[in-house]
Amino acid sequence: MPGNPQEIKLVNNAMANATRRKIMNFLAEGARTAEEVGGAVGKAMLDYHLKLLQQASLIEVKGGTASLTEYGRNFLEGKPEKGEEKGADLHQAKPVEIVEVKQLLPCIADSTKFRTIANMAPPLGGVLKTLEPLFPRGRYSERIGALITQKGEVITTIYGTGKVTMTMIKNEAEAKEMLESLKGTINEAIAKGVAPAPGEKVRVEPMEIYKYLPKTDCKDCGEQSCYTFAIKLMAGEVSLDKCTPLKDSKYAVNQEHLQVLTAYI
Ligand code: SF4
Repeated sequence: MPGNPQEIKLVNNAMANATRRKIMNFLAEGARTAEEVGGAVGKAMLDYHLKLLQQASLIEVKGGTASLTEYGRNFLEGKPEKGEEKGADLHQAKPVEIVEVKQLLPCIADSTKFRTIANMAPPLGGVLKTLEPLFPRGRYSERIGALITQKGEVITTIYGTGKVTMTMIKNEAEAKEMLESLKGTINEAIAKGVAPAPGEKVRVEPMEIYKYLPKTDCKDCGEQSCYTFAIKLMAGEVSLDKCTPLKDSKYAVNQEHLQVLTAYI
């Protein structure tokens, strides 16, 4: 089970490649033979991709059939490892480091901004829940096992697995500055205990939800348009899983953002 910086690096390397991410999403639907995986993502360098995913403990291949490991499933869902919730005690937590800033990609919602994925080690697991009061706009989501915070238009999601995502970042310098600030806040809390920040209500607008939907107005969800779906989602009249096109692996990042935004509703 990945936990130390070297193992986390193997996971980061494995997940840095689009084909390997596709393989992970394909296997999320169930175990598949190597031939089926090749049919879905292409056969070029398939053995190599499978090997890297195995080395990172994200998948296992037995008798020519590939499947996600428990860690792989938790990683995809951004959930803490089994058992991490138990004994989630801030006093036992160790200071964290930002071990890697993995990607700086154009933001889906606004191509003039960036999104970034980093890794924090050691992973905080269930301790994250106790850190919610540190952030005025903090919300711990049991559903995705992550602490979500908002500062200006930047939304930061810290998963129990150590993964950290940030959206609507201006540039790399801002990403690094915000990650350092996050690390400082968490480590101070670990050293001194949690000092609650005054709570602030976070308001998510339907347009913010709409930006991450497929915007095809295909009506599969039973609504006339994606914008109508966004309004009904805000009102709690529909659930995100009714948008079936979102389940396509090409919308994996959109889905992740939508899960974060809906945690605020
Ligand atoms: S199913 Fe999804 S993509 Fe299709 S109209 Fe509904 S919200 Fe839009």
